[in-house]
Amino acid sequence: MISMGVDVGGTNLRVGAVNHEGEMLFSFKESTPTDGSAETLIQVLFQLVLQVQNQVQSQFHEPLVGLGLGWPGVVRKNEGVVLETPNIRGFEQFPLKARLESVLNLRCEIENDANCAGLAEKHFGVAKTFQNFILLTFGTGIGGAIFANSQLLRGHSGLAGEIGHMCLHPGGLLCGCGSHGCLEKYVSAKALETRALQKWNRPLAAREILEMSESDADAALLIKDYVSDLSLALGSLMNIFDPEAFVFSGGLFTTGGTPILKELKKQLTAQGYQSIKKNISCVASTLEGRAGIIGAASLLFPI
Ligand SMILES: [Zn+2]
Repeated sequence: MISMGVDVGGTNLRVGAVNHEGEMLFSFKESTPTDGSAETLIQVLFQLVLQVQNQVQSQFHEPLVGLGLGWPGVVRKNEGVVLETPNIRGFEQFPLKARLESVLNLRCEIENDANCAGLAEKHFGVAKTFQNFILLTFGTGIGGAIFANSQLLRGHSGLAGEIGHMCLHPGGLLCGCGSHGCLEKYVSAKALETRALQKWNRPLAAREILEMSESDADAALLIKDYVSDLSLALGSLMNIFDPEAFVFSGGLFTTGGTPILKELKKQLTAQGYQSIKKNISCVASTLEGRAGIIGAASLLFPI
C-alpha cells in the first residue's frame, strides 16, 4: 500500500510517495508560487502529483490509496476546507479537498501541517512510545500538535494546537494571523534569522547561527535570548498539558539544534511545576524533514 503525501512549505511544495511502514520512497519538489493565486499553486501541485503517480505506477507494484496534504494554516479536516492561512494568500474558506478530488480522481485528505508532523512522529518517529507529547515545528512560522492519551487533540472545531499564535509579548510584532506579539514572531527559524540580521546587519542562515554559538560569545547570547522566549511558552504548555515530552521538528533541528536543546534544558528548570518538569524530555525529530510528507500520507492509512 502506497500513499502520496504533500508538504506545502513557504519555500517549497513537495510531494512524496510513502509506504505503509512510514518510509518515504521518493519525492519531487517545486518552488511554492507566491503570486497570491490559489489556482497557480494548485496547478504546480497537480504537476508534481502526476510525476509521483507515474513513478509509483512504473516502479512499484502496490496500489496507490490516495493523497494526504499538510496545509500550513487552519484546516477543518472533516469538511476538507482551508479556513485561513497566515503565510500563503488566496486560500480563505477554500474547499481544497473537493478541488483536489475533482481533478485527481483519488481519495484526498487534508490536515494542518504540524498535525501531520505530529502523526508521523507518533506512528513512525521519536514519539512512538509517548502517550502525551507536544510537537513544535520550526520554519517560517511555528506549528504545533498536541497529543493527549495518544490521541491528537483537535478541539471543538478541529483547530487546536496553534501554539505559534500564543501571545508571548502583548502589543509586540505584527503576525500574519493579524494579532500582535505571537510566539512564532520570536522563536520560528525565520525569527532566529531576523534576530541575527538585526544584531550583525548581515543575513545568516539559522544553521550558521547555531554553529557560531558554539564558539562565539555574542552568538551564544543571541541563542540564550531566543531560548528565553521559547522556554516561557514551553513552561506554560507544561503546566497546562502535563506532557512527558516536547518534540522539536523542522530545519533548525535537522541541521543540529543541539545548542538550542542544551540551553533549553538549563532554562526550563525555571518554568513549570517541579513534578512535571523533572521528568520531561526534549527530543529532536529523527525524520529529517520527511515528517510532513510521511504524516500527510499516513492520513490515508488504516492506523
Ligand atoms: Zn499569530
